[in-house]
Amino acid sequence: MSPGSSDLPGPGPDLRAALGAFHGVVRENVNLAPMTHVRIGGPARWLVEPRTVGDVAAVVRACRELDLPLQVLGGGSNVLIADAGLAGVVLRLGAFQGIVRDGERCTVGAGVTLPSLIRLTKDAGLAGLELLIGIPAEVGGAVAMNAGTREASTFDTLASATLVDAAGAVRTLTRAELQPRYRDGGLDGRIVVEATFALRRDEPGAIQARLEESLRRRNATQPVTMRSVGCVFRNPGPECAAGALIERAGCKLLRRGGISVSARHANYFVNEGEGTARDFLDLMCEVRARVKDLAGVELEPEVKILGF
Ligand SMILES: Cc1cc2nc3c(=O)[nH]c(=O)nc-3n(C[C@H](O)[C@H](O)[C@H](O)COP(=O)(O)OP(=O)(O)OC[C@H]3O[C@@H](n4cnc5c(N)ncnc54)[C@H](O)[C@@H]3O)c2cc1C
Repeated sequence: MSPGSSDLPGPGPDLRAALGAFHGVVRENVNLAPMTHVRIGGPARWLVEPRTVGDVAAVVRACRELDLPLQVLGGGSNVLIADAGLAGVVLRLGAFQGIVRDGERCTVGAGVTLPSLIRLTKDAGLAGLELLIGIPAEVGGAVAMNAGTREASTFDTLASATLVDAAGAVRTLTRAELQPRYRDGGLDGRIVVEATFALRRDEPGAIQARLEESLRRRNATQPVTMRSVGCVFRNPGPECAAGALIERAGCKLLRRGGISVSARHANYFVNEGEGTARDFLDLMCEVRARVKDLAGVELEPEVKILGF
């Protein structure tokens, strides 16, 4: 067995044949842990990396035809993947790296990382994304999750997104045609291939100062250098932070196997090296039970739990 592969079951349905004229890469039994921020997860039965929007549509149609589950993986910064891996197809859009500027608008491929987009727009004197600095997402994942902070979210500057739906049809929808919610872009399972952001002009120096301030606040309160999924649970309400409830329930530094609740921010669980998805889920259950006992609140996961 070579590194990055596993002994998951053999050939099964002929995905390559169903894809037809496909320009991307198809690999089998690929270890997903290195593609996640928390470094947890078993192999994908198929990992498919399309090159064009037509390729993405072909993957969607092939999965429908073969009745295979399809999971999009972005930057892997808000997912917990089962130790046994994922059956079916995992789609990654790392080849979607285009950035086209038109005045104050930037149209960006889904695979561009948010940090690199923010760096590029700052250098071009375009402001509006500063409060998203430090979120280790790809643009597609940031739109899908409506990633953000208390002060700002991805949809604040999103003008439109080009999406592939469950039938493989491609459409560009404006912000007004989408229904974003708290940590949910309201995409109904559609795949983001491109997004356009409407920014505003400002001095790069002024943008840089705001970026530094955002990063300073983030670094002071979050374990940014550790392996995590960001916030594990959704905040139950605008004035009710999950992290504060978890801390009050005495869960800081609670541990299951190789996963512990961060001492710096109780809504972050940290993989100290050997943690598994099972450990992570066990810790989530324990924390949920303690918060329920303390405050009567049922915490809901923000992290996307895949393959269980
Ligand atoms: C250190 C750290 C700090 C974080 N800070 C924040 C924060 O301040 N605010 C915040 O909101 N989040 C934060 N997060 C969580 C995470 O970065 C966001 O949820 C982000 O939006 C996930 O993007 P991703 O590209 O990594 O997506 P993934 O984690 O790979 O996927 C998340 C979900 O998005 C879907 N998805 C990904 N790409 C696409 C696509 N192209 N089309 C359709 N669906 C797609 C996936 O299927 C999955 O359901 C943090 C995470 C970490 C590790």
